[in-house]
Amino acid sequence: METKVIYFTVNGRPEQAEFPVDCPTQDVKDLFRSAAEAGPHDILKLYNPKGNIINISPSLEPNSPNLCYKLEVVAADCNSAELAGALGFDLSSMEKRLQGLEKKILIEAGETPAVVYEMKKQVDSFREKLESVEHLSWLGLFKDLSEGTHKPSPFYHKRTLRKTREECEHVREKFLQMRFVKIHTKMFGIVHSYCSCHHLCSSLEVSEEVRQYLKTPTFDNWQWEDAEIMVLLQVMYTDLDFIPTFNIEPEVLQQFLFEIYRRYNNIPFHNFKHCFCVTQMMYGLIWLTDLRSKMDSIDLLIMLTSAVCHDLDHTGYNNAYQINARTELALRYNDISPLENHHCAVAFEILERTESNIFRNLSMDQYKRIREGIIKCILATDMSRHNEVLNKFKSILPVFDFTNKDHRDVLMMILIKVSDISNEARPMEVAEPWLDCLLQEFFNQSDVEKLEGLPVTPFMDRDKVTKPSSQTGFIRFVLLPLFIELANLFPCLEQHIIHPVRKALDYYTEMEKALETEQQNRAQSENAAKSKEAAGGRQDSQTDAGPDTSKPESQST
Ligand code: 5GP
Ligand code: MN
Repeated sequence: METKVIYFTVNGRPEQAEFPVDCPTQDVKDLFRSAAEAGPHDILKLYNPKGNIINISPSLEPNSPNLCYKLEVVAADCNSAELAGALGFDLSSMEKRLQGLEKKILIEAGETPAVVYEMKKQVDSFREKLESVEHLSWLGLFKDLSEGTHKPSPFYHKRTLRKTREECEHVREKFLQMRFVKIHTKMFGIVHSYCSCHHLCSSLEVSEEVRQYLKTPTFDNWQWEDAEIMVLLQVMYTDLDFIPTFNIEPEVLQQFLFEIYRRYNNIPFHNFKHCFCVTQMMYGLIWLTDLRSKMDSIDLLIMLTSAVCHDLDHTGYNNAYQINARTELALRYNDISPLENHHCAVAFEILERTESNIFRNLSMDQYKRIREGIIKCILATDMSRHNEVLNKFKSILPVFDFTNKDHRDVLMMILIKVSDISNEARPMEVAEPWLDCLLQEFFNQSDVEKLEGLPVTPFMDRDKVTKPSSQTGFIRFVLLPLFIELANLFPCLEQHIIHPVRKALDYYTEMEKALETEQQNRAQSENAAKSKEAAGGRQDSQTDAGPDTSKPESQST
């Protein structure tokens, strides 16, 4: 039987693994797991000499001892040998002893004495702290979609990935000190620099190229880190003239943006970068449609700020989950757009604080109008209201009148909706990673739904959904019908948002076809292999020797 030898190190210790080339993936994974002395819940990451993560599978490229791979255990349990060793004690045995003690005392004294209770609380809080150290580990859990069906990931994650104070402070410092940053952008192939002089107040010196680029839907968010994104958001407020018009102090705007950054969680999709993309699309639409000549600045301020705030404190579980799981949010908002109500409430929590209230120099009436507008816009992003909002827009389109407040309100809702789901209107290199992020968040939710015995949202089910299947339907039935209506009002948008979306539809339709063909081929060759096996029964094989009724088929790859 042909075998493979793989050389690798784990914790600096050289190891080698040998396995038959045709052994099941799970066996290879288990082999590496035991080499790493990892528990069933630990995550294994295998790196090649270039430092890239590679799949642990029977198709691993054989290597030599001097070009060996590196195996790492991430998200080890708190009581794993390594972590406990590093801490100098074993947390789980401490917990067990405490439980034993508690039981004994309970029987004798009838209640938990304060000292045991206190100790228990300390152990709990310590455990929580330890667990939150690896708060990003689940981001590495994205499963290869081509792998087909598998059980819910044992690494499903339910913790809200709130940002840590350290993380926030670090980004805040960077943001405030950002004077001169060099950025390579693929688009221009040159180095851009900008400086922000917040101490000298008003003017941010960001290069003219970046400012223009920021007004286009082709903008690539992936090239900018969070502190830079905050500067870019500041540029948007500045270049729309909001600073002088609404008498916004730069320090207050910075504090506002910092609070916004802080209250987007570290989750795969609904994070600060999504907030930026939606806002940047809104900003782009404002310029492309020359909205400044058609609506007043308060409306524009409402639209931009709504985009900034629209997914605040999203935890990665949609409204259906909130309602089915009867979460605190669903209870608080009586199942009525629990998430959107929450995003909006968090926004006004931030605005309630003087130091981050960018509207603090406005009159009561202006504030009231802005609050009403932001609430309307953010609540309109609940996709369960999609048809309601779109139909309203369609009905007023033939007589659309910019001087009519009702008409403007509906347009504002449409614009935030378009921005919210506009990833596919971006260049493929920008859009595709976003789809991976979205599916990662979806799959995490459906894994949790399965584990908790809740109804599984079909479009989030990793056993049913693929990248192309999730996009073709979404583009055909949601994106295009919405974008086309907006382009009816602003024909110039056709080239900017409709063309790229049509291109994406072609791309995913092709991908869907290719995937189907591949599946058919795979099924055929599996059947052929089984038939061959059944015919030559003497051959030893790893596959089931069950009855096979399929006919042998000649087939080429
Ligand atoms: P959000 O949750 O961001 O406020 O609302 C947008 C929702 O639309 C997402 O949660 C997601 O369900 C859906 N959505 C947005 N973009 C895409 C996409 O590119 N593909 C698919 N299939 N759904 C999307
Ligand atoms: Mn959103």
